[in-house]
Amino acid sequence: MADNKGVMIFGEIAEGNLSSITTELLGCGRKLADELGQELNAVMIGSGVSGLAQETIAYGAEKVYVVEDQMLADYQADSYVAVAEKVAKEVNPAIILLGQTSMGSDIAPRLAFRLETAATLDCVGLEIDPDSKRLLQTKPVYGGNAQAVYVMETDPQIATVRAKSMSPLEKDGSRKGEVINIEAGLDPSVIKAKVLEKVKEEMEGVKLEDAAVIVTGGRGIGGDEGFKELEELAKLLKGATGATRPACDNGWMPDKAQVGLTGKIVTPDLYIAVGVSGASQHMAGCSGAKTIVAINKDSEANIFKMAHYGIVGDWKKIFPAFKDKIKELVS
Ligand SMILES: Cc1cc2nc3c(=O)[nH]c(=O)nc-3n(C[C@H](O)[C@H](O)[C@H](O)COP(=O)(O)OP(=O)(O)OC[C@H]3O[C@@H](n4cnc5c(N)ncnc54)[C@H](O)[C@@H]3O)c2cc1C
Repeated sequence: MADNKGVMIFGEIAEGNLSSITTELLGCGRKLADELGQELNAVMIGSGVSGLAQETIAYGAEKVYVVEDQMLADYQADSYVAVAEKVAKEVNPAIILLGQTSMGSDIAPRLAFRLETAATLDCVGLEIDPDSKRLLQTKPVYGGNAQAVYVMETDPQIATVRAKSMSPLEKDGSRKGEVINIEAGLDPSVIKAKVLEKVKEEMEGVKLEDAAVIVTGGRGIGGDEGFKELEELAKLLKGATGATRPACDNGWMPDKAQVGLTGKIVTPDLYIAVGVSGASQHMAGCSGAKTIVAINKDSEANIFKMAHYGIVGDWKKIFPAFKDKIKELVS
């Protein structure tokens, strides 16, 4: 344990750029590394990723380990975990951070197993304990109804971080750092699965996970017509429209709009919940919103326990005036 030093983040690329979770990991990793008085390293795995190394430095990394290989062009657990294990064993960090993304949550537990340590998934808070210097890892538990703080006894301490729960640093092109190329050294026989086809999801407007404002409807909306009104408000606020599971199950909204335990986890600045009861499985997906506004006709609805602002009444009567006022404020 004593030989492990520094913080390492695993970067991800979205459309040729550092993904937003990567800059958030760098911001959080920088803070943890400074508290420990140690280095922040980043690992970029893929094909054609070396061009992003300087940008990684500009967002806070001191060293960037670049692993370029044609065999790493597509994310594939077998190859990426093998490379992650190789780099982690060479660098020996005390802390490894990944995004709570499909890639990060796939790699983290496998890597933990190979490094004979543990991983905490979906952290929303990370701090260094001032006495023990161990990583305090906060994550929601019991469907988002409580938060637990985990401390690991083994190194490296591996955690995945929920999107939007950490802030990136300002990009600073004058930051200096070192870029180190590492051979992937992959044995093609370890790769057991192949990517046969990629299908790009058709997207209109802002992606739910990236939206600063989300207007979500529940069963109380009563049908797809009602959702058109919510969509109008979401567009006005340059946001996205979300839905509860019953609203998706009823076919009023597509499944990809579902927020919650079995849907998307979102952390917008503003979450407007209309006709949503606030069941724990739904709140697990939106409790990280900075401000929650609820409209519900039942004053006893659970959503009012979580909302910062609440309006009790029939949404059909309230919503037109609510929308008009917002229109007036944003125009
Ligand atoms: C394992 C598991 C996973 C789940 N995952 C998810 C998940 O990911 N996401 C999710 O959303 N749910 C999930 N659920 C379902 C969850 O438990 C709730 O059933 C669901 O969130 C309730 O959705 P709702 O609030 O739309 O409906 P309801 O609970 O039926 O609430 C409707 C609300 O609308 C209000 N209302 C009705 N009419 C009006 C009106 N005219 N004006 C204003 N208010 C009105 C009512 O007062 C009520 O509070 C999961 C459940 C399980 C067991």
